[in-house]
Order: sequence, then C-alpha cells, then structure tokens
Amino acid sequence: MSVPLRQQFTVAKYLVQQKLKGNKRYPLVLMLEPLFRCNLACAGCGKIDYPDEILNRRLSVEECLASVDECGAPIVSIAGGEPLLHKELPRIVEGIIARRKYVYLCTNALLLKKRIGDYKPSPYLTFSIHLDGNRERHDASVCQRGVFERAVEAVELAISRGFRVTINCTLFQGEGAEEIAEFLDYCQKLGVEGTTIAPGFSYERAPKQDIFIKMRESKQLFRDVFKIGRNRKWKLNHSSLYLDFLAGNQSYNCTPWGNPTRNIFGWQKPCYLLVDEGYAPTFKALMEETPWHKYGNSKNPKCANCMAHCGYEASAVEDAMRRPWKAAWTAWFGPRTSGEMAPEPIPEYELPTAKPRRAITIEVAE
Ligand code: SF4
Ligand code: SF4
Repeated sequence: MSVPLRQQFTVAKYLVQQKLKGNKRYPLVLMLEPLFRCNLACAGCGKIDYPDEILNRRLSVEECLASVDECGAPIVSIAGGEPLLHKELPRIVEGIIARRKYVYLCTNALLLKKRIGDYKPSPYLTFSIHLDGNRERHDASVCQRGVFERAVEAVELAISRGFRVTINCTLFQGEGAEEIAEFLDYCQKLGVEGTTIAPGFSYERAPKQDIFIKMRESKQLFRDVFKIGRNRKWKLNHSSLYLDFLAGNQSYNCTPWGNPTRNIFGWQKPCYLLVDEGYAPTFKALMEETPWHKYGNSKNPKCANCMAHCGYEASAVEDAMRRPWKAAWTAWFGPRTSGEMAPEPIPEYELPTAKPRRAITIEVAE
C-alpha cells in the first residue's frame, strides 16, 4: 500500500478504537458529494442526469463540516459531480483539514490549473485525479478529446507544487490486461503517490449500459493484470486483501457502512452507488435505519456485479484486522493469480428479467 505511514497509523488507531468500543458498524471513509453538477458527461456516470434545479444545488460549508463531525470517519473523499465547480470548496477543504481528517479531493482535473492557487499543500490533502486509462481510453471514457492531456498536465503541476496526488482509474469493457499494465507503468512514471483501480459499477442511470464488466470477467482481468505486474512494483492505493478480492481469491460480504455518503438529499442508503434506496436525515439515522442485510452482491440484484471499494475495501480491512498474517502474506507475495477462485456468491434473489428503463423517484430526507 502506498499511503504514508502517518495516515496508516491514524487509520489503524481509529480501527483499534472502534474495536475497543465494540462497534460492529463504523465509517472509514465519508463520501461527501457537495454537488452533482459536472463539466463532463462521461458514458459510465450515474450522477449527472438530474434536472437543472438539482444540479444547481450545493451543500454549504456549514453542512459539509457538520457532516464530517457527525460521521467521525478519519478520511473524507470529496466527490460529485465535479467538486472544483463548488465556489466554497477551498473553505470546505480547509475546515476538514483543521479537524485533522485526510481529504481526497476527487476531480477530473479540468479546472485544477485555474484553481490550484486556492489550496495549500498538506499531508492531509490529496488530489485524486480521474484517469480511466491511456489517452484514447480515457478520452473515450469521458466522451471528450483532449481531457487526458489536460488531466496529465494537472497531475504534473500539482506534484511540482508539492501536493499529494493519486490517480483514480475505473475499468470498463474492452480493456485488456497489457493495456492496463502499461497504464499503471505510466502512472508510476508520472510520480503519483498511488493509483486506485476498480471495475465500473453498472449504474442504472448511466447513459451507456454495455460498457460494464461482469464480476467473473473482472476477476480474471485483475488476475491477468497482477500476473504481468508481478515485478513492476506498482503503487496501488488499496489494502492487500481488497486486491486479493479483485483477483477472485476472497468472497467478501459488502460493508457499505464503511463508506457512508452525504449529498444534497441527505445521507444516502446504503451507498453512493444505489440511487433510489432513499435517504436518512442524519448519520445516526442512516446507521440505525438502513436495512443493511438487504445489500451485497449475493443479496440484491442491484448489487449483482459490484466489486467497488466503497463496499468491499472496508470488508477487506475488517478481514485484515482479524487475520493480519493473511494480509501481510498477500502484501508481500501479491494476490494469487492462478488456481481456483473463491466461490461466487450464490444469489438469494430471483435473477431479474430484462425490463425497460424507468423513471427514478428520489426520497429526500426531511
Ligand atoms: S464520472 Fe465524474 S467526471 Fe465524469 S461526468 Fe461523472 S462526475 Fe463528472
Ligand atoms: S454491493 Fe454494496 S457497495 Fe456495491 S452497490 Fe451494493 S450496497 Fe453498494
């Protein structure tokens, strides 16, 4: 894992405190979505097809900081939409850093050159820049030419100014292991702190539906990538057991409470990926009222192919706490890339039949 020791220590201390308190469910990363407006319209995005009156809404600085306090997670991931479009984002980031929380500011980087002067380098702040692969792949993924080049310029600028920078890569249909390996080599050359990588979640609301990878294919793809990367020492920003899960060697249940989401509608049940399960008015209500047992890839057809870090990274971390020797072994030797895969979850639901896309209603917290 490429995360600095100081941050690893803070997270480890927080996890031990949760265990000592006997908390079974606790947040690890708060997903803060202060707006849904974006300056791109990516093919696999499930966040931006709201009407203008919703896209024009913002969480205020006070609402964002109150959510950070209410949740208590040691890490805050600011996503959206495009967070850099929020005029008060510098104050939100400053307020979170003042609370000694680690901020990952997720951005497509189109505005970073213009706005970088609004931020100061800090061990608590990381720009997590969206790049879904090499030039052609990324520009196709975001449906606009030239975005890759601008994002890479922004990465180089942020690194040269002393910021922590990571790359956030989502994989879609049609990508081969060699191509992904080359991209990870490229990220290494750019000098970023690490790269997060995961298969895209099949959002019901994404404009294109044939781009998502099924779970079995994802696992084989990750095995092929890790086989190529055996001696390349890529810096992947994930726990060793989450990478092992991606390679099909672990059967985890989803733990979406590890990544609770706060956006303009309230606290989203159960995670930021499922959009029509309703909202809770407070973090406490989210933890107490959400029927968590209904979610996970064996329990709910909407979760069928999900391997997202927001659901399974916290499961992997929990496993590492229980069996640290297994996590250390995998971190040292890497995920297994051959042999039988862990059993696929057996669906506890009837497989859905194809149906026309429907209008989505949103239940907003009072
Ligand atoms: S995936 Fe990110 S960058 Fe692309 S449209 Fe959605 S919010 Fe914007
Ligand atoms: S499996 Fe978990 S993280 Fe994935 S969509 Fe379902 S509830 Fe969300």
